[in-house]
Amino acid sequence: MKETAAPLRPETLSAQGLGGVAIPYYDIVAPIHLSTTFERAEDGSYPGGRGYSRDGSPAYDGAEALLNRLEGGDQTILFASGMAAATAIFHSLEPGQRVVVPRRMYWALRNWLRGFSAQWKVDLVEYENADLADLAQKLEGESPALLWIESPANPTWELTDIEAASTLAHLKGTLVVVDATVLTPVHCNPLALGADIVLHAATKYLNGHSDVVAGALVVRGNPPAWTRIRSNRALGGGVLGPFEAWLLLRGMRTLYPRVRIASGNALAIAQALEGNSKVISVVYPGLASHPQYDLAVRQYRDGFGAMLSVRLRGGEDAARRVAARLRVFKRATSLGSVESLVEHRASVEGPGTLCPVDLLRLSIGIEHIQDLTSDLAQALETLASGE
Ligand code: PLP
Repeated sequence: MKETAAPLRPETLSAQGLGGVAIPYYDIVAPIHLSTTFERAEDGSYPGGRGYSRDGSPAYDGAEALLNRLEGGDQTILFASGMAAATAIFHSLEPGQRVVVPRRMYWALRNWLRGFSAQWKVDLVEYENADLADLAQKLEGESPALLWIESPANPTWELTDIEAASTLAHLKGTLVVVDATVLTPVHCNPLALGADIVLHAATKYLNGHSDVVAGALVVRGNPPAWTRIRSNRALGGGVLGPFEAWLLLRGMRTLYPRVRIASGNALAIAQALEGNSKVISVVYPGLASHPQYDLAVRQYRDGFGAMLSVRLRGGEDAARRVAARLRVFKRATSLGSVESLVEHRASVEGPGTLCPVDLLRLSIGIEHIQDLTSDLAQALETLASGE
């Protein structure tokens, strides 16, 4: 992108995919690089700076550079999924090291971590997401190698104070990783709050159209673990395909308007549901009734995200019936896309879930707000009053 006198805002950088054009045709849209291998010069060097695409493909350059700018990072690498990005971090640990993770976090990663820590002899310590005193206590003793933060935590939306937690962890020399999938760079930049690495399941808001599985890590500085994490992508082989990387960049070009509209819709829905007699509680960081609303106001900017959960009178049966009656919301897993989704999380997560059985998780999209609120109202209407 040609430099302008004033620094360009994230919305502009995002809309223009950083604004570069491809030589020699000056394409506005980046071409897709499919080559897995690149020719050496006569002296054996690589004049294009690339050797083999598992080590790093030009197909990733656009999306990596844009996300890096939006998160304020020093380096960004894409992965084949959010889980591939997360497991590359945990595989960088030495057996026997301590890792501090939240009690509530993305359930598939939580389950995987339990097996991994037993197998790898990692000392896995859990802290209460919202309790800094508990976190401080769990960081005591032998310095943990890693602190994992997921804020807000899927699907019960507890927040962790990223800035305060990072300060505590850094006193112990502990690397801080934030899963910021649900926050998105629109609402928060965890690196600016002190985190060392930001993780995105790029499958969700960054891509935003339910048609790509991808992950990304953004790093600040060059912490010792980073070399190993990079090598885990190249040698573990969890690499993204060129077309998926191209779709991801295309999705990121509309990140700001998508997320803003979805977050606005989510706030309106949360407020509407809070007044419904069939509802026990609405869990949304943008409601004053959220126990950490003050932290949410500090941690988020420009809205409070587009994920919320609703707990219904009448328990699991009522929750399942409401999900079944929705017509505009799609009954599907995942989150962060332009279409609204509903899910009965406890049954998806299965045995050991920490999710209440009367809870429905809503991923709010960019549809017309009245179509979403009417759909929820008619589905709730079908529950007997007082249920
Ligand atoms: N982190 C969070 C918060 C998620 O919700 C998910 C997936 O739902 C992941 C990580 C894993 O991402 P992926 O499905 O791309 O592997």
